[in-house]
Formats: sequence, C-alpha cells, structure tokens
Amino acid sequence: MPKNSMKFLLHLIIFVLLTIITQIGGMIYLISILAIRKTTEKRGLKRFGIFVLLYLIATYLIVPNIAPIFGREKIKETESLKAHSIFYTLANRNYVRPELNKSIERISAEFSNRNNGIKMLYLDANFPFIDKFPLLPHLSHNDGKKIDIALIYETNGNLTNKKRSISGYGVFENPTQNEFDQTTVCKEKGFWQYDFPKYLTLGKINKDIEFSKRGTRELTNLILIQSEIGKIFIEPHLKTRLDLSNEKVRFHGCQAVRHDDHIHIQLK
Ligand SMILES: [Zn+2]
Repeated sequence: MPKNSMKFLLHLIIFVLLTIITQIGGMIYLISILAIRKTTEKRGLKRFGIFVLLYLIATYLIVPNIAPIFGREKIKETESLKAHSIFYTLANRNYVRPELNKSIERISAEFSNRNNGIKMLYLDANFPFIDKFPLLPHLSHNDGKKIDIALIYETNGNLTNKKRSISGYGVFENPTQNEFDQTTVCKEKGFWQYDFPKYLTLGKINKDIEFSKRGTRELTNLILIQSEIGKIFIEPHLKTRLDLSNEKVRFHGCQAVRHDDHIHIQLK
C-alpha cells in the first residue's frame, strides 16, 4: 500500500475509534490534523498537543453548555453521586435528560443519608448529542434516558464504596446452585455475547469485598419508588435474591448482556 493511503487509513481508524468512544473526539482529531500544516516541524507532536488541549476544553467547558440545546445535561456530581471512573466523564459518557439528573441526585442523597455517606456510583450513561447515536457497547443508551449504576458491596458487614472491577463492569455476582441461571439458558440458545462484559473489567480489584444484598436492595428500592423511573434491568437471580417484586423490574432479554455486574435504570 502506498505511504499516503496507509496514513489516510490510520487517520480514519483513529477518527472512528475516537468517535465511538467519546462522540466528539473524532471531530476534534480532524480539526487537529487540519490545524497543523503538513510542512510543520515535529508535526505529530504538535497535532497531539493541539488535540489534547482542544479535547479537554471541549469536554469540560464547551460541551456541558451546548448539550442542554439537545435536551441533555452533564450529570451533576455531588458528595453522594460520582462516576466510578474518570473515564466516564473524560469520554463524555455522562449525559442524561434533566429529569434523570434530578432523579439520580435524589436517590443518591437519600441512600447516602441512610448509609453513613456511602455513594451511588454511576457507569455509562449517554453521550451529549443526537438521539439514536449509540453509546457502544450498550444497545439502548442513545436517548439520554438510560444510566448504569454499580452494585453495592460490603466488607465485614459494613457497606463500602469499593467495587470489584476497574471499569465497573464484568465482575459478575453469579447465581448460586439453587438460583435460576439465566446466563446458561441464554448461552445455550446461542446468544454468545450474553457474558461478553467479562472482557471489559480492565482488571479485577478489591477481592476482599463481597456483594451486599442489603445495600444493593436498599438502593434498588429507592430507585424503584421514583415515579419518573420506568424500568430497571437486573439479572433474574438477583431479582429473586433481593426480593424485588416491583413490576418496573424487567428482564432485558438474551440479546442484551447479563446484568449481575450492574443495574440499568431508565426513564419512562
Ligand atoms: Zn444500561
């Protein structure tokens, strides 16, 4: 392949990846390439510097002010509501509709009040712009109405803010021998992707903590009593284990991925 075509292909791959991961990153990459002339010395380094600068300005100063035009807001972090990892805010995956923003603020404050300041940590929400623009790998986080919440863990009976995986996804609270095993059922039906998040942990951590039935149940019940929340997804064996009878608790289907590493919540 000629050198120019190789370069074009590389730029294209970076553009697509940045767009998939951060929505705005691909556009900013394109601007950085166009901003630095071909003949400039140390072109690569300068482009990289411009990209980082523009990306940070856009992410932290510009996008939060434009998103409301598209009906979405940056998640308002409080003492009780935080992203599980800086990745979610750095990659613009922390946008929701205003009703959802208010709702999660209320849920987390109440949960934290009742539990000595234990926080509600969120994972992927939605991108700031454009309905139907998918936030991969999720099927439905494309309209500002969805957000994933980390499970609650404990150590020696006390709730903790620690989680079991670096990304927040992929460490499953497996069914016990006596519980219904949805994952095996889905995989036997040929839905190979059902436990795919096992590849998305970015590393398993805090092996000394364990799933808190009490904490996760209390948080889930606080979510369920919010009138604007329409549905939540959690794996069937956890629904039974946590004794959740509310009709808002649904099964997401085998075409999705397993939900025993996080809870998915969405507006009506
Ligand atoms: Zn979700």
